[in-house]
This record gives sequence, C-alpha cells and structure tokens, in this order.
Amino acid sequence: MSGRVLILGGTGEARDLAARAQAAGMDVISSLAGRVRDPRLPVGEVRIGGFGGVDGLRTWIGDNMIHAVVDATHPFATRITGNAVAATSATDVPFLRLRRPPWTPDPADDWSCVPDIAAAADEIAGRRARVLLTTGRQDVGAFAGIDSAWFLIRVVDPPEASLPPHHQILRSRGPYHLDDERNLLRDNRIDVLVTKNSGGGLTHSKLVAARELGVEVIMVERPPEPPGIRVVSNAAQAMSWLTS
Ligand code: NAP
Repeated sequence: MSGRVLILGGTGEARDLAARAQAAGMDVISSLAGRVRDPRLPVGEVRIGGFGGVDGLRTWIGDNMIHAVVDATHPFATRITGNAVAATSATDVPFLRLRRPPWTPDPADDWSCVPDIAAAADEIAGRRARVLLTTGRQDVGAFAGIDSAWFLIRVVDPPEASLPPHHQILRSRGPYHLDDERNLLRDNRIDVLVTKNSGGGLTHSKLVAARELGVEVIMVERPPEPPGIRVVSNAAQAMSWLTS
C-alpha cells in the first residue's frame, strides 16, 4: 500500500506501529484524542484532538490525502472505531482494526465477567468490599452511588465525575510490575479488583497478583467490534497489511 497512513492511537500497539512504519520509511501520521494531559507520544508526526464526528473525520481524511487508516485505539474506545469505519467506507479508504487480544482466565483465577461498567457497579453495590478500581477516569462515575465499599481509584489524570463517598485516588501510569501490584493489593487489603478486559502486557500483572492473593476480579467484557471489518492483533501484522 502506498501513500499517507493515518494511525488512530492512544495505545502501546499504536506507538509500536508508528515506530515500525517510520523505520520502514512510510509516510505516517498518528492521531490522539487529547484525553491525557501528558500523553506518551508516538514517534513521527502527531495530531491531537477529535475530528468532529464521522463527517469531520471523512473531511480530514480527504484534506490530508490519507490512503489507509489503521485504527489502533483502545478496545473500549467504540465511538472513534465506529466513526472510522463509517468515514473510511464512505471514502473507499482501506481500513484495518489493530486490537490487542483480550486477557483470558487461568484455572486458578476468580473472575466474574460482566457485560459493562454498570453491571460491574451492580456487582459491588451493597458489599462491604475494599475495591481496587482500574477502569479509567471516564468510568468512575458509575460507582459514585455506592457507599458500602471503599475504593482505591487508580487513574492517570484526576477524574472529573462524581466519586463514591469512601475512596482514595492513586495517580499512576503503567507499566506495572508484579511486586508492586502484589504490595498494592496487600497494603490496601483489597478484596475485589474491578478492571476492563483491556488485554496487553503493560497492565496484566494486577491479574497475576490477584490470582496469587485470592483477590476476586470483576472483569468488564469488551464491547463488540463493528461487523465485517478486518482485524489484526499486533503491530507486526498491521505492517504486513500496510506493505502488502
Ligand atoms: P471514544 O469514546 O471511542 O471516542 C470519543 C471521541 O474522542 C471520538 O468520537 C473522537 O472525537 C475522539 N477520539 C477518540 N480517539 C481518538 C483519536 N485516536 N484521535 C482523535 N480523536 C479521537 O474514545 P475514548 O474511550 O474516550 O478514548 C479516547 C482515546 O483514549 C482513544 O484514542 C483510546 O485509544 C485511548 N484510550 C482509551 C481507553 C478506554 O478505556 N476507553 C483506555 C486507554 C486509552 P470526534 O468524534 O470529535 O472525532
């Protein structure tokens, strides 16, 4: 495939792909939503901020002479994926979804899988649990009404939503190491971990620590991808598609 490539990013996989594409001499621009104050930037050209929905993205693709779009956004970033599918099919621009595989439970794990954040909050409501909440600042509001539990809320930037009455904010950004995750769960006497099934290696160690310490995991399952799209699971596969 020749010509300019747009990578929709905000993930480690998107940074990996941008680095590989740049090293291969491809003309690539990465796009970030601008949610994080001090984002990890990919190598090469970067633009930051929303496009203005499907119409804005379609116009931007045309104005910037984009020949292919790789959507390497987070598995839970469903709006931008839907917009990118609609904008590329309207303009006949080749589209690829790069989505890391989900985590899968080990036989020793104690996971309760739920379909969405609201269901995760329902699981916690009424329980006198000590909860490590790692679902990201955009989803914290779902737990605001729960006064039975104490929450350790781990976020990159401070949440703006209402918060549950009993909580502590822990600002940090992965990757996280197993020893630190073990200590975090132990020191805070965590009995439930709430996480989205983001997949990937950067934040996986919390699941190993939870398994070792017998901490229950409430796992929010991924939303479905749009039907009929081409999906790969790592940057090397995306490079094969780009160079085919
Ligand atoms: P979302 O709900 O799918 O998208 C909301 C809006 O944000 C989109 O309609 C688009 O605005 C803009 N947007 C999202 N990703 C963009 C990108 N890469 N470049 C330009 N604009 C983008 O997304 P989200 O869940 O808020 O996530 C925002 C970003 O954070 C994503 O890029 C994602 O990769 C990253 N991220 C998300 C999560 C998560 O749990 N959701 C976790 C880690 C990282 P317009 O309609 O104006 O174009």
